[in-house]
Amino acid sequence: MEKTIAAVSTGSAPGGIGVIRISGSRAVEIANAVFKPFDNSSLLELKGYRAKYGSIVIDGEKADNAVALVFRAPKSYTGEDVAELSVHGGMLLVQKTLEAVLKAGAVPAGPGEFTKRAFLNGKLDLTQAESVAELISAEGEQSLKASYNALQGALSNKINSVLEKLLDSSATMAAWVDYPDEEIPELTDGELEKTLEQCALELKALLDNYENGKTVTKGVVTAIAGRPNVGKSSLMNMLTKTEKSIVTHIEGTTRDIVEESVRLGGLVLHLRDTAGLRSSDDLVESIGIEKAYKALDDAQLVLAVFDNSLSLDGFDRDLISRCKGRAAVAVINKTDLEARLDTSEIEVAFSEIVYISAKNNEGFEELAAAVERLLGVADFDSSAPLLANARQKKNCENAYGEIIEALDALRAGVTFDAVNVMIDSAADELLSLTGKKASAEVVNNIFSKFCVGK
Ligand code: GDP
Repeated sequence: MEKTIAAVSTGSAPGGIGVIRISGSRAVEIANAVFKPFDNSSLLELKGYRAKYGSIVIDGEKADNAVALVFRAPKSYTGEDVAELSVHGGMLLVQKTLEAVLKAGAVPAGPGEFTKRAFLNGKLDLTQAESVAELISAEGEQSLKASYNALQGALSNKINSVLEKLLDSSATMAAWVDYPDEEIPELTDGELEKTLEQCALELKALLDNYENGKTVTKGVVTAIAGRPNVGKSSLMNMLTKTEKSIVTHIEGTTRDIVEESVRLGGLVLHLRDTAGLRSSDDLVESIGIEKAYKALDDAQLVLAVFDNSLSLDGFDRDLISRCKGRAAVAVINKTDLEARLDTSEIEVAFSEIVYISAKNNEGFEELAAAVERLLGVADFDSSAPLLANARQKKNCENAYGEIIEALDALRAGVTFDAVNVMIDSAADELLSLTGKKASAEVVNNIFSKFCVGK
């Protein structure tokens, strides 16, 4: 029999409440051993979806007032009996309650074990389970929406509808091959081709949206670059709205890379404020400058800052040429000062130019809009189904490849049974995407990345 598991499901910092979650056939019995309802009833008699107010009893002593929630299988997160004890969120109290629960017969839950049990009990498929992990780690607005959609089954529904079409075609073709003389609904090559084309189209749309989805959900590594004193640190401060990076007009003080994640519009930018780009004889400083160039090369997005009050110099021109062909926005700072900058060279090199005054906090929205346009996520639809990770993408890519091969074979006049092998392989890929046919290794790998308690 499956062991009854328990873990702290709330975070590892003190909070208003802490929740100890218990799941398995003995969940209610174990909760009942450490929790006494004030009305002297027993949790054992409690129906599902009910709560009781009472006390936590540790080693015979009342330790806290708490709420016990009972869920009865299969109507629970895991599909098993589940009890949750909500105690006051002090770390010691939460830990002691968990210890009492373990003493009463539960075993500590492994990472993601509650969600793994939910998956094994058919409460959610792998794409939904993975979206639970994404929801927990979501930083940006769009990311949150996209993960919630996946949890609601947006991706599963899309994959299952393609799968159904493939399995239908496969079954009819198999029947044709096995019983050529029977009356089987007509399956002309034309119809089959149309169905396969439709399947390929739907998978292609998912694959095409993958990079955009990743940009939106994972955030964008961004370098803020520019020569000293153009206002890189000030821009970073404007974006973070804190005083984290040191703003100063002494050249060379931003020697190291400061990193910070900020929300810009619907996106999350992982910002790297770099040392001013220039040459230096100072060793420490030149290490900083080298790092700045590396950060610039590694970035997915460059915010190239220029000073509106000065004309371009050699370092500006160097930055312009380094930005050519890259995802880069020219940010012209200090618009509150008199313009001395000739922007013609910048206009040639950048498709997006934004005017800001970091000092006066002006131009934030314009910058957000320019970045979204540049990265192609301005019209991103977070309610559309989205492949969430490399694993899902690989399965989708393989399925798409098999369907394209099947189409080619069909057009070349290859026999139905040969075509069917490819269609079955495509179906297998989709079945492992949603987890209906995923190997234990894949499943274990997915859940091992979860936190304990989820
Ligand atoms: P960095 O070396 O590129 O990081 O530049 P800083 O952010 O340290 O800014 C250099 C100087 O320019 C500081 O004195 C800032 O106060 C000033 N500065 C930054 N942004 C603006 C702006 O929009 N307008 C004006 N007038 N000064 C600014």
